[in-house]
Amino acid sequence: MNIDLDIARQRLTQRKEELVSLSDISSEARDTVALDQQSVGRLSRMDAMQQQAMAAATERSRNAELQRIAAAFARIDADEYGDCERCGEQIPDARLAIDPSVSTCIGCAK
Ligand SMILES: [Zn+2]
Repeated sequence: MNIDLDIARQRLTQRKEELVSLSDISSEARDTVALDQQSVGRLSRMDAMQQQAMAAATERSRNAELQRIAAAFARIDADEYGDCERCGEQIPDARLAIDPSVSTCIGCAK
């Protein structure tokens, strides 16, 4: 294991903060859509509903990533961080730099 766990923690913390602040912004946007609905016509109401559905999908994928991040912190504590959970090989640092919460190597991710 030659992964720097301090760097891993930093990356995960940073990513988590990004996700949480994005989530705050989008929940404000969702509230705004709800208010606008009362004063707009049918067509833009459908637009607004579509936007809401998209925002909800984005929110779900953000929540999923937050869960992966929490799991990654648990793997750091268990001294398993950076090991592929399928084959046990070490995940290349370049991959972890892009997404610090991945739990499989590229070969197993397919
Ligand atoms: Zn693997």
